[in-house]
Amino acid sequence: MRWVDRGPEPGGVDGYAQQFTQGWVDYFRHDIGGRPTDSFWREFREALGNRSSDICWYCERLADGVVGDMLLPTVDHFRPLYRFPELAYEWTNWIFSCRECNQSKDNKWPEQGYVDPSAADEQERPERYFDYDMLTGEIIPHRDLSGDARRKAETTITDLGLNQRWVLWHRQIRTTRFLVKLFQRRVNDREAFIDRVLRQPKIFHGAMGMAVAQMRASGEI
Ligand SMILES: [Zn+2]
Repeated sequence: MRWVDRGPEPGGVDGYAQQFTQGWVDYFRHDIGGRPTDSFWREFREALGNRSSDICWYCERLADGVVGDMLLPTVDHFRPLYRFPELAYEWTNWIFSCRECNQSKDNKWPEQGYVDPSAADEQERPERYFDYDMLTGEIIPHRDLSGDARRKAETTITDLGLNQRWVLWHRQIRTTRFLVKLFQRRVNDREAFIDRVLRQPKIFHGAMGMAVAQMRASGEI
């Protein structure tokens, strides 16, 4: 996971919010009426996906549906609808997510919440919460974390399946390949290579960025 700048709210969100939010609040908060059938957040899936070149904001795989159904693009309600119906049409509550991450997360909302891949607050961004284990390929809680913050990182990793086998293998192969290419370059060319490759949002660039940060800290690059 790495931070995604979701950009300004596009036109149209507010209109839907005014028209349809109350139905969700009535249904989930007051048990009035049937479950609403509107889902106009889907109209903004493309706008959200454009912010990350269609990379899932949670697992960092390409969510364009080409590889299979589980990687179809979806809009996830970060704070789930049934607990936070007033956020049904809240732009900052929408996450571009592959279907698999969306289904793994489901209706869960732990006490301390999840790490928000597009948190506005710099202290709440994924870089503060996660690190990459170069030996195992796992995403792990950042070593500086304790208490609730550590639990938040752990729950996010577990509930989203960030270390499930297919994500982990794919991530480790890509990241290792990137590091091999990096070390094939002359020392003086490495920073430019890192900058050129990691500037754009692409598959597993968050993990690669964490690996680079570790190697900088230990003086290896
Ligand atoms: Zn995903």
